[in-house]
Amino acid sequence: MNRIKTLNTRLANQIAAGEVVERPASVVKELIENSLDAGSDRVVIDLEAGGTRLIRIRDNGAGIHPEDMALALSPHATSKIAEVDDLQAVSTLGFRGEALASIASVSRLMLTSNRESNTESGWQVAVAGENMSPGIVPAPHPRGTTVEVKDLFFNTPARRKFLRTERTEFQRIEEVVRRVSLSHSRVAIALSHNGRQVKQYVAGESGEDTQRRIASVFGQDFPSNAVYLEDENHGLKLNGWIGLPTWSRSQADQQFFYVNGRPIRDKMIGHAVRQAYHDVLYHGRNPVFALFLNLNPEMVDVNVHPTKHEVRFRNSREIHDFVFRTIHRALAEVRPEPAEAAGVYEAEATRSHPVQSNIGFSHRPSSHGPIKPGSSNPDAFHAGEQLAHYQTLVSGAQLDNKDETRPPLGYAIAQLHGIYILAETERGLVIVDMHAAHERITYERMKQALDSEGIKSQPLLVPLSLSLSERECAVAEEFAESLLALGIELQRVSGESIMVRSVPALLHKSEAEQLVRDVLSDLVEFGSTDSVMQHRDELLSTISCHGSIRANRRLTIPEMNALLRDMEATERSGQCNHGRPTWTEQTIADLDELFLRGR
Ligand code: ADP
Ligand code: MG
Repeated sequence: MNRIKTLNTRLANQIAAGEVVERPASVVKELIENSLDAGSDRVVIDLEAGGTRLIRIRDNGAGIHPEDMALALSPHATSKIAEVDDLQAVSTLGFRGEALASIASVSRLMLTSNRESNTESGWQVAVAGENMSPGIVPAPHPRGTTVEVKDLFFNTPARRKFLRTERTEFQRIEEVVRRVSLSHSRVAIALSHNGRQVKQYVAGESGEDTQRRIASVFGQDFPSNAVYLEDENHGLKLNGWIGLPTWSRSQADQQFFYVNGRPIRDKMIGHAVRQAYHDVLYHGRNPVFALFLNLNPEMVDVNVHPTKHEVRFRNSREIHDFVFRTIHRALAEVRPEPAEAAGVYEAEATRSHPVQSNIGFSHRPSSHGPIKPGSSNPDAFHAGEQLAHYQTLVSGAQLDNKDETRPPLGYAIAQLHGIYILAETERGLVIVDMHAAHERITYERMKQALDSEGIKSQPLLVPLSLSLSERECAVAEEFAESLLALGIELQRVSGESIMVRSVPALLHKSEAEQLVRDVLSDLVEFGSTDSVMQHRDELLSTISCHGSIRANRRLTIPEMNALLRDMEATERSGQCNHGRPTWTEQTIADLDELFLRGR
């Protein structure tokens, strides 16, 4: 072994750069963060060749004192913290004093800055090659700072080899800018690539401005397919937009979570969100969200990872539950709303301001108490027959009273191909997928029933004998008690056959065999280690699918109206258990547009 030597500054910085500066996008992230920390409200980003040839970021922030300019480029030099206690409550994005030094060690870097508002008397330092102690020269510059990074990794070929195509690197930069832009809507950001302006985020602090920014990141249609939520509890504040389950994606690529304005990735948070959507999202789909958590900086350790993508919460259990509950409740409240209550909706206004949000949906403040069960009586279901149920409901409805405000989903006018219900509403036409809608209603009702009094089961007059696999029979035996709680009574009669004695009262007897087969195969899949109750909702979902109105079943107008009223009263009725939409609306304005009327 050789004797030990201290590394020269440049090499030490290059090693540190390995952690912070992985690719052009990481440079952009660090530089924008510096601009934001300096209080800028305008940041201009110019790139060439995906940032590999040039990254130039100019801001109008506080600037750097001329005597500090060289220091800014040296490692462990920062203006943001001074002693160890400051680490306990970091309120800036940066604090490690590492970024500029690291970037300078693997590129040709030029820093120009001016602290004076009235003059253009700036100063400039440049670092390149071996020279790590730059001299400072005067250079005209308005108040603010420009950092120019050329030829990234010119002296570290190993790193350069890992760069992807210009296009890919540029896309990663776009992603970084998008992420930052969402949490800083008061800052105008312009992005150019190879001399062409690619993106311009306009600044503004009002709710509408933030919403416009949300729309420019997620697409113009997002706000009308999202719910805004806001909640506060014990010093934790959460607000932001969550996509409706029907707006889910196959990739988890539109999920943005911020802690005190800092974009982070966190397994625990990811879990809380997934759990909140668990009930309403088809397996393998990913929700879309931009959520902002704010809390006392002392409750979160940001000094966990060099790129500051991760944080550690003091109280992570509490935060998990808070995030879960807030989202879960907001999703539960997604149901059709009367036109008036939706507030933001107006046919004309919507057309001219596509960013107006939550058409037809509203999220009520979450301070109210526990969510009340739907207005229709769950007992009615125990009578068994769906049709009878809807007929009893209908008798009380005032269908002809036009003075009353129309219910949000309107009144049925026809059934289409035995699949869809067409209903006339105040605003236009609503189309309902009756199987999907009924499945959701049954499911929600069963959940409520299970929570309050357990699911009623009904003995079969003639028990049903089923031949199954050995494994399924074993599972039937093993979970007999839990299945009983779901209204299913089974008895094993031999190695490969069981007897079905009772089924949930609200099911058709004819569905019993398929139901039992499905439930048992679900159980085989979940394995014996997990408890049934953990998969309760999946099982209920299977049961309610069987208990729902099948396609091609003719309903009368009063039956259809009863189903519409049920939907209005049911939580999460905007989508079926698999996250497909249960209904959609075509407003008169939409239809007019379709027929080019009034142009
Ligand atoms: P950190 O951000 O962790 O402090 P950096 O290496 O990113 O470390 O920056 C070092 C110092 O240079 C910062 O603390 C700040 O004082 C100064 N600085 C860097 N960029 C800017 C900027 N755009 N505007 C004003 N000051 C800046
Ligand atoms: Mg920094």
